[in-house]
Amino acid sequence: MTPPRNSNAARDIANVLHPYTDAKAHLQNGPLVITRGKGVRIYDEQGKEYIEALAGLWCASLGFDNERLVQAATNQMRKLPFYHSFTAKSHEPMIDLAEMLIERAPAPMSKVFFGNSGSEANDSALKMVWYMNNALGRPKKKKVFARLKAYHGITLAAASLTGLPANHKLFDAPIAGGRFCHVGTPHHYHEAKPGETEEAFATRLAEELEARIIEEGGAEECAAFWAEPVMGAGGVIVPPKTYFEKIQAVLKKYDMLFVVDEVICGFGRTGNYWGAQTFNIQPDILVCAKALSSSYLPISAVMVNETVFQGIAEGSSAVGTWGHGFTYSGHPVAAAVAIETLRIYDETNIVAHAAEVGAHMQAEMRRRFADHPLVGEVRGVGLIAGIELTSDKAARKPIDPAKKAGARLCKLGEENGVILRAMMNDSMGFSPPLIITKDEVNEMLDRVGKSLDALAVDLRRESIA
Ligand code: PMP
Repeated sequence: MTPPRNSNAARDIANVLHPYTDAKAHLQNGPLVITRGKGVRIYDEQGKEYIEALAGLWCASLGFDNERLVQAATNQMRKLPFYHSFTAKSHEPMIDLAEMLIERAPAPMSKVFFGNSGSEANDSALKMVWYMNNALGRPKKKKVFARLKAYHGITLAAASLTGLPANHKLFDAPIAGGRFCHVGTPHHYHEAKPGETEEAFATRLAEELEARIIEEGGAEECAAFWAEPVMGAGGVIVPPKTYFEKIQAVLKKYDMLFVVDEVICGFGRTGNYWGAQTFNIQPDILVCAKALSSSYLPISAVMVNETVFQGIAEGSSAVGTWGHGFTYSGHPVAAAVAIETLRIYDETNIVAHAAEVGAHMQAEMRRRFADHPLVGEVRGVGLIAGIELTSDKAARKPIDPAKKAGARLCKLGEENGVILRAMMNDSMGFSPPLIITKDEVNEMLDRVGKSLDALAVDLRRESIA
């Protein structure tokens, strides 16, 4: 249906190139224009209400109408709307936020570097690793390891760390030939051998990592390992028991840094303050964004431990100034909003809330959907979950991609008042605002259930036709 002339939809089609959107199909389908938000809900131009099952992009942790964040931004705008942090310039919001992050870190951290997005933070962390090893006279120690299906962002270095084919193929990624090594996805449901326990599977993955490190030149050439505690955009993949303990033992042996990407998992999502705490990870570098400011303004952070900081400090005399940073690194208004966000998390004990409501969401999802004919696996921890669709529960086979089952479920979800997200293999992601209540979880899952049932009916009808 062609939208009316001069409508927002028509003007969007005429002018906007959307991220992660089929550009050609968009000319026909047009946008869903959102006008306002309240709590866990958003509203479109027609006033239709939706529950945001993804908190936008796994990020609007405090929902869509937090007045304290508005006030924090307004106050800072009036006081000092912009200043930068190059050449030793500073301001109080950035200093306060750095201090607060270090106090809350899951392992001893020394310094914080600020960016605007998760991608920038991962690029910055990678440059820190390379810069530091140059400074320390280890120019060959540059190879970095990440997992297939990982998502670390879309700028070229972050996209190179990412392990999803769609982010590589048409973008000439990975860059810097041979420095990016992708290893196995820790997804027991698909990747384990028949009868292999979670622990045995984790042991095998750690052994495979070690074999690859040796093949790539061992401690001399291998610098760091990147991981999301729970893989998000790859399909919400929760690692098997003992996985990170075993991986970390291998990294220690080869003097490699652990970079934890907490862009989704940080700030309560998994039921602990950090995903690193849920999975017993001791990071050397921690990357966070999204819920850092409840996404009301763009800001990201890279925390580094003392060893990494000393390496970077060495660089200033060895190879020249740490010549890296963004105009908006530590932007005062974004920092003020992040400070207020962290205060709200503390005052409302958001982590305990996420753990309690998360346990309810996990149990309800399994109770309602595990036996659904279209559902292969329900997985997740805390307030992050995935439902993977299947055409054959026993064989764990995906639905024929030509059926576009995930995209259709999103569309049916919209009709039923819930915003969903489909990822690889028609895995549906759930990451609602952390403020969601148990009643709202039930309401969200009612709408999901209705949409799943409708999809099952449609698919059955098509297979008979
Ligand atoms: N890392 C992870 C784990 C992410 O989920 C994302 C974004 N979804 C990023 C990095 C990139 O963040 P951004 O989109 O802010 O660049």
